Amino acid sequence: MKLTLLGTGSPIPSADRAGSANLVQVDGHHLLFDCGRGALMRLAGAGVFPPFLSQLFLTHLHSDHVTDFNDVVTTRWAMSPVENPLPVIGPLGTAQFVQRTLEMLRHDIGYRLDHHADLNWEPGVIVTEVSQGTVWEVGDVRVTCAPTDHRPVSPTVGYRIEHAGKVIVLAGDTVPCDGLDQLLDGADVYVQTVIRPDLIKLIPSPRLGDVCDYHSSCEQAGATAARAGAKTLVLTHQVPPPLPGSEQEWVDQALSAGFTGEVVFANDMTVVDLG
Ligand SMILES: [Zn+2]
Ligand SMILES: [Zn+2]
Repeated sequence: MKLTLLGTGSPIPSADRAGSANLVQVDGHHLLFDCGRGALMRLAGAGVFPPFLSQLFLTHLHSDHVTDFNDVVTTRWAMSPVENPLPVIGPLGTAQFVQRTLEMLRHDIGYRLDHHADLNWEPGVIVTEVSQGTVWEVGDVRVTCAPTDHRPVSPTVGYRIEHAGKVIVLAGDTVPCDGLDQLLDGADVYVQTVIRPDLIKLIPSPRLGDVCDYHSSCEQAGATAARAGAKTLVLTHQVPPPLPGSEQEWVDQALSAGFTGEVVFANDMTVVDLG
């Protein structure tokens, strides 16, 4: 099972961090979790084109996690030689989000249908809205989800991917909560979106200050990882965008919470290979 941090950025634009997106490759499946800014560019960098995605999972419908959904669905449709609907799993609201996105794409869909004689079907999306429990199971690979706490954004979910005794948890945007602890039971790899309140408070922007309410700090991520006994904590979606050379500060803050495992400071295309 191999995890690629495709995009490690946040809503704040960065020249070298794409928006939130993670790829888990296991047993021949390509599982994409969230599809923020530049997701398909990074996916191409990982050698995967949209027609070959096995499943898209969404943690929540904040724009930085779904900005490029339109690109995923359009490019999969336009590149597939036969009908190849995109299966999407996400929290309540996902079906409406998908339907509205397809509506937004109405002009483009019309242009391509008119132009290409061999393309005579509309883009298909199969949506399953989930809140808890097993949401995807194929062969020996199982994905479960649980509610997370990103309030006032709700509902939100995190995902746990299990294969051959190994466990990856993609928490998404959340503060520490019971649902996250449940997902993390026995996890090998815990991926957490993180913020630095100590830096954010130096920036005189009330709107930026608001993000402290509903994200985990590095210390909180470290404490959650320690409580779960996770082996590896991966820090991603760093807010504010980290200055070059500051990576160790983020790691040290996570370690200060008593976590004794490995902390990985993620950059775009960082790979964690569980064999
Ligand atoms: Zn969010
Ligand atoms: Zn986010």
